[in-house]
Amino acid sequence: MNIRSGWLSLLALSLCAALPAHAEWMERTEAIMGTRCYVQLWADDPDKGNAAIDAVMDELRRIDNLMSHYKPESQLSQINAHANDYPVQVDKELFDLIKLSTRYSQITDGAFDITYASVGYLFNYRERIRPTETQIKAALPSVNWRNLILDEEHHSVRFGHPGMRIDLGGIGKGYAADRGAQILKARGITNAIVTAGGDTRIVGDRHGRPWLVAIRHPDNPQKVVTRIPLSDCGVSTSGDYERFFDEDGVRYHHIIDPHTGHSASKVRSATIIAPTATQTDGMSKTAFVLGAEKTLEIINRMPEYDAVFVLPDGKVLYSNGLRPPAPRPPGAPEPTAASSHP
Ligand code: ADP
Ligand code: MG
Repeated sequence: MNIRSGWLSLLALSLCAALPAHAEWMERTEAIMGTRCYVQLWADDPDKGNAAIDAVMDELRRIDNLMSHYKPESQLSQINAHANDYPVQVDKELFDLIKLSTRYSQITDGAFDITYASVGYLFNYRERIRPTETQIKAALPSVNWRNLILDEEHHSVRFGHPGMRIDLGGIGKGYAADRGAQILKARGITNAIVTAGGDTRIVGDRHGRPWLVAIRHPDNPQKVVTRIPLSDCGVSTSGDYERFFDEDGVRYHHIIDPHTGHSASKVRSATIIAPTATQTDGMSKTAFVLGAEKTLEIINRMPEYDAVFVLPDGKVLYSNGLRPPAPRPPGAPEPTAASSHP
């Protein structure tokens, strides 16, 4: 053994001594919130890892029980049942998420609007049911986030227009992924991902390497359009292929344009990256309604956000933060070390 390899094996030995015996990647998938929920984490000890995953899954179930519109006993269902008649008091947590949703309505010119549900509930994608034009016309005046009357002091919600309903399907999973990540961090987990449906919160990296998040082809789940290296952030993908049915060449899917009451189809998929999954979920529906160009204007104004859009013709658009640097014009001076790493 020469000195060098001896030193290396010593180093390896001391590293092995420092690492706990059963440190490993652990993962689990469960069906919660009507979707696939997935946790992967690096655990020093499998028992602690399992307990941490249990805690995340419990938290996702708790949030679902609070916010699901499928569960008649949830506080969200109580709002939908009674807020036309009187202010419905709810937990501060739910109130705050509803309030935050109106912030995304402001940012997105009303493309994100939890009152979309006033029309949205007339669709049933699994049973291929959709409203008639007359039904949409009758329900559309109830879609308007400005008619949500939010009382900060009492955490109560009241509808300011008849026939209103709300649904947090467009932000609740991102929020749940963030809550799951908080729980993991509080337990000392430093490398993990928590996914609920299309929404993921990434904690740390994969031991010095980023996580590679794949964006699938809208028509072929096996085909990857692009892969993005990410760490410590939220990432959401919305697609017109998630919940839909096709009829006479028209795709009826789960992202609704609040201005028309029809499925919004200006892009096939939208991926948003930002510090939290609540943020990325809140923004991932926008491009379907406003189109990629207008949404890129909004995204490029917000330095925390990046986006990748797959357009109906298959083209892929990236926000400024994800574009490769523009080629240097001919004759331009070589960048110095300082200027190439601003
Ligand atoms: P996932 O359910 O996988 O998180 P998305 O983030 O794309 O998928 O959210 C889609 C959901 O958003 C729909 O199923 C519906 O509940 C809700 N939604 C649809 N249209 C809108 C809209 N214009 N504004 C807010 N939420 C919406
Ligand atoms: Mg989502």
